[in-house]
Amino acid sequence: MNFQKIFDKPPETEASAPGRVNLLGEHTDYNDGFVLPTAIPQSTTVQLGLSTDGHHHFYSENLDEQVDILDSNHTPSGFASYIFGCIHVLEQAGYTISSLNVYVTSSVPMGSGLSSSAALEVSTLRAVRQLLNLPINDVEIAQLAQKAEIHYAGVQCGIMDQMASSLADTEHMLFLDTRTLERRVLPFPSGAEIVVIDSGVPRTLASSGYNQRRSECEAAARSLEVKALRDITDARIVEDLPEPLRRRARHVVTEDNRVLEAVRGVSSERFGELMNASHASLRDDYEVSVPALDILVEILQKTAGVFGARLTGAGFGGACVALVAAGKGRAIANHALEAYNQAGYTGQILVPETGDK
Ligand code: ADP
Ligand code: MG
Repeated sequence: MNFQKIFDKPPETEASAPGRVNLLGEHTDYNDGFVLPTAIPQSTTVQLGLSTDGHHHFYSENLDEQVDILDSNHTPSGFASYIFGCIHVLEQAGYTISSLNVYVTSSVPMGSGLSSSAALEVSTLRAVRQLLNLPINDVEIAQLAQKAEIHYAGVQCGIMDQMASSLADTEHMLFLDTRTLERRVLPFPSGAEIVVIDSGVPRTLASSGYNQRRSECEAAARSLEVKALRDITDARIVEDLPEPLRRRARHVVTEDNRVLEAVRGVSSERFGELMNASHASLRDDYEVSVPALDILVEILQKTAGVFGARLTGAGFGGACVALVAAGKGRAIANHALEAYNQAGYTGQILVPETGDK
């Protein structure tokens, strides 16, 4: 399938945006905290043309699904809500958006915690910016994308995914303060590369669990009389909170501290230890892991050449990330996947990319 076949003419422009993997700083972005993602090689591409019938038309090649927006006051469901949301947030920002034909294709796996949703939003906004020559910068794109996801797709997300998709590349880590949006582009720890393996376990319970954790964090911040848990730097302060707020807050505070230590320029070995500690904290204090993720992480952690490993994304399923010795990513990923699949699961290597897509 292609744009021409669906819309009967060639596209006028196209833009892409990558998925992301978060190396450290999980469940910190909605606590105004610190995150450390990097872009992955997989990306989403949006092709655009002007529609001549006065209506928007969206097609996803991945879903082989077309949605025609006949009533622009009514938010569609499913994938169209993200694109519809992007168009509407641009209109709310004061831009006039013509009726569009939108064609989406992507190599970012959906729902694995690698942020296919942000890649869809950012590539859509980039393509519209290009087509209509809009004067918006990459940070504004991330903010508009987040607004679209919250208000139109109905996901109460933080800003990390959209900032990473809009500003990160695959060669660096993006250190981001999600409160101030101050950021620094940093090299990977020396002599290291990234492995990402999807557990194959769908992220069921993810949205209810996510919303529950968010409200627990808000309750903890209220009890501690701070605006957000980011304002606590000494982890001992949370120890007087009632359970489960104590453990939830302890994860967030220690996780922020792990990110801050990692960006001071630690060795690959130390960075790996911080990732291992992050996983333990997500499993025991934040309780967002599942057995499959624990098994995959343990296999990775025990594999020679691995500095550290953890679940990545919001948890309850999805993918794991490992920091491994440079040049060994492919062999380590193959070995870990084999051991994981022998345990009865069906995983998939996402990074390094196999290139057979
Ligand atoms: P993640 O962002 O971790 O991949 P989400 O649940 O946040 O998971 O977003 C996945 C949703 O984003 C999909 O269910 C779909 O609605 C939308 N989406 C992302 N990429 C595409 C695509 N290429 N085609 C259609 N829909 C997509
Ligand atoms: Mg998402």
